[in-house]
Amino acid sequence: MLPANMELNELIKYVREMKKRRGFDGTSIEQEMVLFTEEVGELAREVWEVARVGAVSAETRRNLAFEVVDCLIYLLSIAGMAGIEDIEQYVVEKERINTRRFE
Ligand SMILES: [Mg+2]
Repeated sequence: MLPANMELNELIKYVREMKKRRGFDGTSIEQEMVLFTEEVGELAREVWEVARVGAVSAETRRNLAFEVVDCLIYLLSIAGMAGIEDIEQYVVEKERINTRRFE
């Protein structure tokens, strides 16, 4: 069951404002996509570390979580740049489709 309040829309607003405040709002959506891909690579490196060690320590979990957050920030940034204000509506809509398809 989907959570009632994901607050992803608030995160989109936060990311947009944070980028302005830090002067990171001059990128194109294509540049943002490249930066997102870079973060996916960093996440892959952390996942690889978990697989290599064969266990998740508190430090590894923290590092992995930070890379998930970096990816999330870029994803929501791309959504915001594309004019998506209500991503929560799309989560509900897409999950309805996925439920019909896979359940
Ligand atoms: Mg990172």
